[in-house]
Amino acid sequence: MVIIGLTGGIGSGKTTISEYFESFGIPVYIADDEAKALMNRSKVIKRKLIKLFGESAYKKGELNRPYLASKIFKDKALLTKMNAIVHPKVASHFKRWVKKQEAPYVIKEAAIIFENNLESQYDYIITVVADENLRIDRVMKRDDSTLKKVKSIISNQLPDAEKIEKSDFVIINNELEAAKKQAANIHHQILQIISK
Ligand code: ATP
Repeated sequence: MVIIGLTGGIGSGKTTISEYFESFGIPVYIADDEAKALMNRSKVIKRKLIKLFGESAYKKGELNRPYLASKIFKDKALLTKMNAIVHPKVASHFKRWVKKQEAPYVIKEAAIIFENNLESQYDYIITVVADENLRIDRVMKRDDSTLKKVKSIISNQLPDAEKIEKSDFVIINNELEAAKKQAANIHHQILQIISK
């Protein structure tokens, strides 16, 4: 199965663009959503996260995200440890998911690909970009977040220019209709590459 990575900075429109590919009949695996679901579902992950963060890691059986975020914010090593617990489970879940798909290719939407040198897990990578002011406005509106918070997240991510350089395809998502056309164009290019 051909696996396409779809990445981009916060608010670039990864999920929006993923939905376009879904509308073309392409199965999409959203790594962040699956990780969250597994953190709530998997007994092994639960046990390990409680060991790492304490009983407050879960509240009424559900992952206590604000608590985890506050802990990680103070101690970055905890993020590495949490990822070491969650990522292998997501990877094996993704492998099982891929086996079940019947499509010319699949897309895995992941915020982090280049940051952790995970390019080799993908056959091709699409990066979604948008002007920074648009991204900031979108995220502030969507998450009811502050300018300062969104800017600090952006400054922690790899700059778009570096992502573009490492990508096979780029979608400029400043405007939805134009972005959809680019997605359709890339979809056809991928189908052509695969059929060769
Ligand atoms: P994150 O990294 O935070 O998960 P993302 O890259 O998946 O974000 P989306 O959630 O798709 O981005 O988009 C962010 C917000 O901006 C959403 O509310 C979405 O509806 C909106 N949005 C996306 N693309 C556009 C666009 N071209 N024009 C206007 N709004 C957009």
